[in-house]
Amino acid sequence: LVKKSHANHRTVVQLSEQVAIGGSTVIVIGGPCTVESAEQMEQVASQLATAPIHALRGGVYKPRTSPYAFQGMGVEGLRILAEARSRYGMPVVTEVMSIAQMAPVAAYADMLQIGSRNMQNFELLKALGQAGKPVLLKRGLSATIEEFVMAAEYIMAHGNPHVVLCERGIRSFDTYTRNVLDLGAVIALRQLTHLPVIVDPSHAAGKRELVADLARAAVACGADGLIVECHPEPDQSVSDARQALSLEAMVALVHSLEPIARAV
Ligand code: PEP
Ligand code: MN
Repeated sequence: LVKKSHANHRTVVQLSEQVAIGGSTVIVIGGPCTVESAEQMEQVASQLATAPIHALRGGVYKPRTSPYAFQGMGVEGLRILAEARSRYGMPVVTEVMSIAQMAPVAAYADMLQIGSRNMQNFELLKALGQAGKPVLLKRGLSATIEEFVMAAEYIMAHGNPHVVLCERGIRSFDTYTRNVLDLGAVIALRQLTHLPVIVDPSHAAGKRELVADLARAAVACGADGLIVECHPEPDQSVSDARQALSLEAMVALVHSLEPIARAV
C-alpha cells in the first residue's frame, strides 16, 4: 500500500480545508516542543500566523527520557491547542503515545504524531488505522528505511491511508549533532513511496544554529514540508531548549525557503 504502484502518483494528506501536505506547497508546521501554557501558545500562534506557517505543533503527552521530567499538560494542553486553532485557523499536530490517548487527542487535534520511540509500537500502529485522523509518523531512532516504510504499511493496512512520513535524524557514532539528518532517506522515500515526506531539522540538529540550514537543505531535496520547534523564549523551554528557534528566527526561516521551494 505504501510503495509506489505507478510512477507519478503522489498522495496528498489533508489537515484542514486549506492545508494539505504533499501538494505543490511546502508545508511548515511550527511550535514549541511542549505546550506549557495558554499564554505561550497564544504568543506562538499569533506570530506564526502572520508568516506562511501552515500548522501548529506542541506536545501535551511527552516521551521524556527521565520519568522525573515534565510529562506534558495532557487534556488541558489539548484544549489550549484547540483554542489556538480556532483563533488563528491553523490545524494542530500533537503526539499520541498510547492507544488510550488516541481518542482524546483525535477529538482535539487535526493530525496525530507518532514519535520516534513508538515507530514500531505495532499495536498502536494497528489502532491508528481506525483513528479517523491523519498520522504523522516519525522515523525510529535507529530504524532502517524498510522498517520505516513497513511501519506506515501497518497504519494503512489497518484502514488509514492518510499517512505522512517524517525524517527526524538517526542515531550515529557522532553526538556533535543530536542525530544525523538522513537527507538521502528523504529522496529515497519519495522515490519508493507515494506518501508525503517531511523533515524535522530540530530533533536532527539538537542545536538551534544548525536548524535553518538543515531545513533549507531538506526543501532542496524535495521535502513536502518541515516541522520545526520554536518558542517565545527559547532558553526557557521546558524541553529541547537548545534546539528551539525564536519566533523571529522561525518567521525568517520560512521566508528564506520560498526561492528554494520555487526552484525544486
Ligand atoms: C517531538 O516532536 O517533540 C519528539 C519527541 O520527536 P521525536 O519523536 O522525533 O524524538
Ligand atoms: Mn522536542
